[in-house]
Amino acid sequence: MVTKEMDKKDFYQSKYDYYSRFAYLVVVMACLFAPTFFVSDCQLFGRFASETVLPRLIIWIPMLLFMWLSKKVTSYKIMVPASYAVIHMIMWCTIWAIIYLPDKTHANEGFIIMHMLFFAMGFCAPFHYAVVAHVLVIVNILVSYQFNHYENMDIMLSLGIPCVVGICAIHYFMEHLYEDHYHTAKKLEYISMYDALTGVLNRNVWPRVIEEGTGRFAPSLGKEISVLMLDIDHFKYVNDTYGHIKGDVVLKELTRRVGIYIKEKDYIIRWGGEEFLVILTDTSLEKARALAEKMREDVARSDNGVCPITISIGVSKYKDSYKEALDAADHALYRAKNSGRNRVEVIGD
Ligand code: GH3
Ligand code: MG
Ligand code: MG
Repeated sequence: MVTKEMDKKDFYQSKYDYYSRFAYLVVVMACLFAPTFFVSDCQLFGRFASETVLPRLIIWIPMLLFMWLSKKVTSYKIMVPASYAVIHMIMWCTIWAIIYLPDKTHANEGFIIMHMLFFAMGFCAPFHYAVVAHVLVIVNILVSYQFNHYENMDIMLSLGIPCVVGICAIHYFMEHLYEDHYHTAKKLEYISMYDALTGVLNRNVWPRVIEEGTGRFAPSLGKEISVLMLDIDHFKYVNDTYGHIKGDVVLKELTRRVGIYIKEKDYIIRWGGEEFLVILTDTSLEKARALAEKMREDVARSDNGVCPITISIGVSKYKDSYKEALDAADHALYRAKNSGRNRVEVIGD
């Protein structure tokens, strides 16, 4: 089942996201077609069953509310219970219509159709939600028996209970199957987002960092943002002298060191070969400069196991265009290189 190490919320959200369109269709189609049961009502009455028009049609109101909610909300914690609530309402509207029916034995067929709906919904739901929601189907039958005297109640239960048990068992295994899909998707996401050598993010993360079409960083990055462009000095010499494998060790050790200085919300992105972009969230230009100085000093002083290296850093402040901030940091880096390297240069206000 869902393992402890795995982020359960993320897993259930992913499961819901994957099946959400299917779940949406199940709810909406079920509501749209529920009033067609009116035809069988007329057959049972042998006339126009005016008594059941309202119970059969009223489900379109919750359906419209559900459609509106689906546009606003994506959280499985709200949408899964909302979906179950609507299909329970279909069941209760059916129970309401049955009150008027002259022959209640056919309620069983209607309830078996309900089991199909719960079966379909269970694909997008956490297993424990599916169990609770489906067991409530039997509770609905038992409660409604108090005022709807089904002549074949014993048969209803002997057919309904195995349906619930069997369908819950299927959902238990389906959740296992989805786990495989989830892990594969996570692995692919990791591979596409992270640099295999250094373990820092690569440029594919960019769409998450920016607000598309606006030229701005994403609002989740906070209000005060500073940008560092960081480059190893004379790295070609390191490769030429010690070989590429040792060069890789230097790169890995550098990212580990730089990582010490950044907060969880910040980003280190491998921008090019030995060039890294650091996005510092909630950091003023002055703080960014001080941090860059600390990084530079630390790298120059520390032993990476291969050879001493230095870095140059360009610092800039983000105003309302990330392109301008990146250009400014690039320009500052260029200045740092031209002023002798192992330096921090700042371009800001
Ligand atoms: P500067 O001080 O002007 O930045 O000089 P530099 O030698 O660092 O710059 P240059 O752009 O001339 O060389 C960058 C080198 O980085 C060349 C390339 O082989 C090396 N490099 C890029 N990616 C990797 C990598 O993944 N591993 C290793 N070992 N080397 C890399
Ligand atoms: Mg370099
Ligand atoms: Mg470079």
